[in-house]
Amino acid sequence: MTLDISIVPSAHPRSAAEVAEILANPGFGIHFTDHMFTVEWTPEKGWHDARITAYGPLTLDPATAVLHYAQEIFEGMKAYRHDDGSVWTFRPEENAQRMVRSSHRLALPVLEADDFVQAVDALVTVDERWVAEPGTEKSLYIRPFMIASEAFLGVRPAQHVTFMVIASPAGAYFKGGIKPLTLWLTEEYTRAGRGGMGAAKTGGNYASSLVAQQEAIDQGCDQVVFLDAAEGRYVEELGGMNMYFVYADGHIVTPETGTILEGITRSAIIDLAEKSGHQVEERKISIDEWRDGVSSGEITEVFACGTAAVVTPVGTLKWAGGEVGGSTEAGALTMQIRQSLVDIQYGRADDTFGWMHKVL
Ligand SMILES: *Cc1c(COP(=O)(O)O)cnc(C)c1O
Repeated sequence: MTLDISIVPSAHPRSAAEVAEILANPGFGIHFTDHMFTVEWTPEKGWHDARITAYGPLTLDPATAVLHYAQEIFEGMKAYRHDDGSVWTFRPEENAQRMVRSSHRLALPVLEADDFVQAVDALVTVDERWVAEPGTEKSLYIRPFMIASEAFLGVRPAQHVTFMVIASPAGAYFKGGIKPLTLWLTEEYTRAGRGGMGAAKTGGNYASSLVAQQEAIDQGCDQVVFLDAAEGRYVEELGGMNMYFVYADGHIVTPETGTILEGITRSAIIDLAEKSGHQVEERKISIDEWRDGVSSGEITEVFACGTAAVVTPVGTLKWAGGEVGGSTEAGALTMQIRQSLVDIQYGRADDTFGWMHKVL
């Protein structure tokens, strides 16, 4: 707890009735809480002027570096309300440490993990009434981000940086039942090469994924799958989710880290699956192994994972000229892993791994 956070409450918080109406049907990323957290950095002063103020627009000089050179990183996490009314986050130190790794790659200053967690806790505490009641898989999605806020068009790491946290109530990801995804294999675009930014959580990776995601939608698919940039042969991940493959003998494979984003959900699933007796391999898996494995029945389940959806089954893989799969039902292990994770997050199962962090 090293940040000295001043709090200036919003003069116009939403009424209880307005909050209730939003929480009844929050959607995703549409509504924002009453407040936001901000802290600034300069080389001379380090991190300073930490504050929680009313949520609202930023005033930015048109020459602000992030608008031109995309020196930006972010995180995504959730706060969950348990049955006893308490509010918790899931492995926030992991998000904090990943942001430190991202900041190295993007030449941004390091925000210490303790300060990151303190900032998130402070905002969630001020906006506690935005964390929905338990029981419906609603949550408060939290978006910490760091931007190059110096007004300067020269190309070098910014000398003025701003870290902020905003929060947005999120509905259950699957309304009306879990429906397996159809994925589109892009053979034209890649998301990250060796030495690139693939392992950093940065807006640039999303900017580069959008045209491929649009191609997926045009092909009638839900999401795009990227292959490695060097050989165009090994499965990497989706635009914002990691991938898992379940084999007939019970072992599980997930692509190794390096050019993919090191998902916190991905890492939790390794622990959960191993605990329930499944051997987990982190290794390269080729697109041929995927296609042939699903055709032959050697691969019995495919799923994707990330904070927003937790775990989502994959039914079909499509590419230019073919498709494989077609399952319209979620696999049993996919759903078992999903349930175990969600039960820990909502406090319905023992937190045997010590993943939950109590906010209030
Ligand atoms: C955030 C993200 C994920 C999922 O990470 P979680 O920590 O599990 O939410 C996967 N891929 C990309 C590209 C991401 O940005």
